[in-house]
Amino acid sequence: MLIDNTIKTPPKHLTSTPEYPTTTTTKKLNLSRARLRTRSTSTAQSNSEDEDEPSFAEEESVSHDISFKNVNIIVSIGMILDLVNKFRCPSCGRVGKMSEKVTQRRGLLYHITFSCACSFQTHFTNSKHLIHSSTLRMDELNMLACVAANVAGIKRTGMTSILGILNILPPVQIENWNNYQEIYSNALDVVKDRSLESAADEAAEQSSEPSDRKGVTNIKVSVDGTWLTRRGHSSLHGVATVCSTSDPPKVLDFECLSRHCTTCSGLLGIKEHSPKMYKRLLAKHIEDGCEANHSGSSGGMEAAGIVEVFGRSESKHHLRYTTYIGDGDANNERALRDAEPYQDITIQRLQCINHFSKRMRTALETLKKQYKGKKLADKKPIGGRNGRLTDDKIHQLTVYYGSAIRSHVNDLESMKVACWGMLCSY
Ligand SMILES: [Zn+2]
Ligand SMILES: [Zn+2]
Repeated sequence: MLIDNTIKTPPKHLTSTPEYPTTTTTKKLNLSRARLRTRSTSTAQSNSEDEDEPSFAEEESVSHDISFKNVNIIVSIGMILDLVNKFRCPSCGRVGKMSEKVTQRRGLLYHITFSCACSFQTHFTNSKHLIHSSTLRMDELNMLACVAANVAGIKRTGMTSILGILNILPPVQIENWNNYQEIYSNALDVVKDRSLESAADEAAEQSSEPSDRKGVTNIKVSVDGTWLTRRGHSSLHGVATVCSTSDPPKVLDFECLSRHCTTCSGLLGIKEHSPKMYKRLLAKHIEDGCEANHSGSSGGMEAAGIVEVFGRSESKHHLRYTTYIGDGDANNERALRDAEPYQDITIQRLQCINHFSKRMRTALETLKKQYKGKKLADKKPIGGRNGRLTDDKIHQLTVYYGSAIRSHVNDLESMKVACWGMLCSY
């Protein structure tokens, strides 16, 4: 069943077994599912996945080898009727006496009854039942439509348009659609928690420090934030992420932050007409849970998210993020220092070399802009060919700067020498 699939352990071919008893079609599905999954496979396993590809491409050309049994196709009801009418009626033995009637439709699911002139009837349905603990009647096809809409980033209306053009009637009604959404989002939550948990276990295993008496391990992490911004507007939504520094790095925890709530802004429309009703609805909305969980500037959003994630690391993962690599955002450092998530244990920040060497680029680009159109001491412009400061040169210097720092990471004096040496020789 669909929901089970998302929670299952990796498919067989990922655990590097040499034999693949699965059919090509399921293999293809497994492959694409494996790609959709967050990169949680180890290097060795992903190698076996890569090796899988050419062999699959070879087999694809041998079309008779593929089982289409589980592939969905779009077919009109009239075509099914034509097919049914090619066979004899099991009751009266006549051919071509069947007529069709749709007895039920739930979104993409159809129950169709074919009846013969002799009153013989046979029933047909185009989707499997979704086995789920909720007592609601749900179907696999409708669930897939809901997942598809989520993956494509469209809502029910978008899905309705696509289906409409394919000459398919709309998906399930909005209330039912929300039920599907909820099941899907709960399933994602389960997968998410397991994924974060296993990443945390791995990070603890690979830590250079053993766990303390309380079973908490100090680890090194990298932090970053990403924000949904529209040009010229400060961001309303963002997510702060903490990743492990294991190989490969994995997401340990994240916090979504929002300065905006659609329900709240919708309620504002009622405020003018009936302040009483607004008050009542707002109180209920806040009780149910408001989307907006961050007030204040969007600049402080990343810091607020990071503090939140650090603050729950001990209870959530038995980890302390005592060393972190960041992009040099002073807000984060200040916020963590003030919040003291681990009381007297100080959190150390390492400068990210990639971000740091970008400063070199910024400085050089500014320099180039300043001298644009001016002549230097040798009476030539700053740009141009033959050893002048071109964009290529800036990129090259940035890369060399980064590697000069990287190769002398534990010795400040030799790092200085290497950096200046690098500048003088190019
Ligand atoms: Zn008949
Ligand atoms: Zn709200």
